[in-house]
Amino acid sequence: MSSELCFFDAFTRYGPRPKKHAAHPWRLDDILAEMEHCSISGALVASTYSIYQDAMEGNLRLSAEIAPHSHLFPVWNAMPHHAGDFPSPREIEPLLRRHRVRAVLIHPKTNRWDWEAPHSREFFRWLARRHLLTIVFKEEFAQVSDLERLLARHPSLRVLLMSAGWDDQRFLLPMMERRKNLHLALDRFQIHYGPERFVKMGCEDRILYASNAPLMGMGAHRAFLDWAEAPAAARRKMAGGNLARLLGMELPVPRENRSEDRLMAAARAGRPLPAPIVDFHMHILPEGARGGIEHVRMENGGPEGVFHQLHRLGCVGGGFMSWRVAAYDSWGGNEDVRRCLDVAPPGYWGLASVDPLYYSQDQLARMIPEVYQDRRFVGMKPYLRFGVEYHHPSYDVWWKFGNRHRFYALIHRTRGDYAEVDALAKKYPRVRWVVAHCGADYRSAELGVECARRHPNVYLEITYTAVTCGIIDYLVKGAGADRVLYGSDLPMRDLRPQLGWVVFSRLAEADKRKVLASNAQRVLAPCLARLPERHRPKLGGETRS
Ligand SMILES: [Zn+2]
Repeated sequence: MSSELCFFDAFTRYGPRPKKHAAHPWRLDDILAEMEHCSISGALVASTYSIYQDAMEGNLRLSAEIAPHSHLFPVWNAMPHHAGDFPSPREIEPLLRRHRVRAVLIHPKTNRWDWEAPHSREFFRWLARRHLLTIVFKEEFAQVSDLERLLARHPSLRVLLMSAGWDDQRFLLPMMERRKNLHLALDRFQIHYGPERFVKMGCEDRILYASNAPLMGMGAHRAFLDWAEAPAAARRKMAGGNLARLLGMELPVPRENRSEDRLMAAARAGRPLPAPIVDFHMHILPEGARGGIEHVRMENGGPEGVFHQLHRLGCVGGGFMSWRVAAYDSWGGNEDVRRCLDVAPPGYWGLASVDPLYYSQDQLARMIPEVYQDRRFVGMKPYLRFGVEYHHPSYDVWWKFGNRHRFYALIHRTRGDYAEVDALAKKYPRVRWVVAHCGADYRSAELGVECARRHPNVYLEITYTAVTCGIIDYLVKGAGADRVLYGSDLPMRDLRPQLGWVVFSRLAEADKRKVLASNAQRVLAPCLARLPERHRPKLGGETRS
């Protein structure tokens, strides 16, 4: 790990958008403030006005609005001119030059034009000839294979793909090797050991830092590269060098937030945090497994790979559940957790799982005490794929046992509302109900905050690929700094963006420390005596500096 990188953000976008929550940032000023806070030196900026309204009016408005900011560069929405509502290449050329446009966005689905039509070929040939970086969201294609056809048909068109996720790896990793004109944004591609994989594949020239702020937070994405275990040259390229090269310009002048706290400074320097971290949401694969669950590849997702990463970043503990819980083999997965805990460094404990639809109530009454005979298990992990709501009576035998032993439960809601959390928190007051993924979106966060206010035994855990901008602050402000917990969902997601999401929030450092570790201690406290000494996380003072 080495010193600071210069970040040049390959995608931000402001303006009104569908179904925006009142608390979710959306203005150009929100982008500027986030850049300042997270020490981001420059950014490509798009505007929703050019997507949802007249494209050229929106493009010109965007250029006018960002003109006062020399570190912002426009991305214009473009489409074929043949319907008569967009300028032809001849008409637009002088405008592109005047407004220094070096990148465009395309929206074949949203703007309803056919990228495969004969007249569209002319459009793509023009983009390729002009070396305009062409940015497109995955959702603009019906299938991922459509993207490959576009890349194959126009091999000199340089495409930057946004919003590809960890569940697209089996499409995209081979495609990256075949299509040298494909560039990948890291906004949602938060795959376990991602930066290290790209370097191994030799494609670090085509990976770009792109935050999609203010929908997402900028700090989450930068942390992925700040903490990458990759040569400095490769990290510099992915952080901003590749984008500058693609746009044919120099990197922007480095900007640094001089009032950042010690956690942000450590992250930017690629150092472990000078604060303990307890990860409240981790899964584990059996050692050597290379898959994961049905549609997700997970690299180094067994104990060796997972503990290597946790150790590098200074984690002092956390709770493990299996991945098999999500693959309809809940009971079998408990063995994966036991094996993981056998080789775990101090501080880690387990959550057991059992799907009540596979066993009779009598069987459950025998199985549940049996699995918790192993005192390293103090958590209960049901799963939404079981197909029955958590307040269904078939779960009662488990929840009663947990209530008696003062366990906690990590629950990924099966419904849009918090009805099951309300019912359970009241019926089983000795259980701490930790609701997973409360950072997914502002609606979930808002309902979570209300639920936490109703029940003192409800906690809100954050993890989600969305790394929603500003939502950690929103949760803490609403529910209190003592009720929000950091978790990563590794190894499906890499833990670094999730950690960066908290580190680069606007919380006071003391509150960040609560979210990162001390609240976990509060949730564990009632069952801590049951955990063998070795498996209790030790927060101590400062772990490393
Ligand atoms: Zn999970």
